[in-house]
Amino acid sequence: RADLVRALDLIRDIPDFPQPGVLFKDISPLLADGAAVRAVVDAMAAQAGPEVDLVVALEARGFLLGAGVGYARGLGVVPVRKPGKLPAVAHRIDFQLEYGTATFELPADVLSPGARVLVVDDVLATGGTMEAACELVERAGGTVVGVSVVLELAALGGRRRLAGRNVHTLLTV
Ligand code: 5GP
Repeated sequence: RADLVRALDLIRDIPDFPQPGVLFKDISPLLADGAAVRAVVDAMAAQAGPEVDLVVALEARGFLLGAGVGYARGLGVVPVRKPGKLPAVAHRIDFQLEYGTATFELPADVLSPGARVLVVDDVLATGGTMEAACELVERAGGTVVGVSVVLELAALGGRRRLAGRNVHTLLTV
């Protein structure tokens, strides 16, 4: 659809962020455009399939998209957060990033065992972030029925890392 093509065209390249030599894909112009963000959120919501009970959104850009997907589908949204932000934590996971390590936490008492979860983020790169989030959901007894991102950076191998998972993306570069 023309709206979606135009939306994805708003993603811009920022050289040397967050480190020299890295080309960062910046979705800020897309998020700042009403028609674009609607086209993207609607497409993510439609891709996900009917069998979703709950959206899990990853800090921070995943929150912006995941909240929209939850609203579009009439589903609740659970934030997966960086450490120290949540008042009550169910599970915590440390994981490897392209540059350094990170930790995610899942809030207590909001993910029911057996919940069928769609995990939402903005970009899939090496897949380490998404893999960690999926593992958190599974530790809480949830089933990851899909992961959804706007943009997949294919050269970084995220899809291989998530082998066996149902990966939805709107654009692969
Ligand atoms: P991964 O763990 O797959 O290597 O990295 C994905 C995570 O880092 C996502 O949470 C994503 O927001 C962020 N990320 C990595 N590279 C980029 C990028 O080029 N653009 C954006 N917007 N996020 C990125």
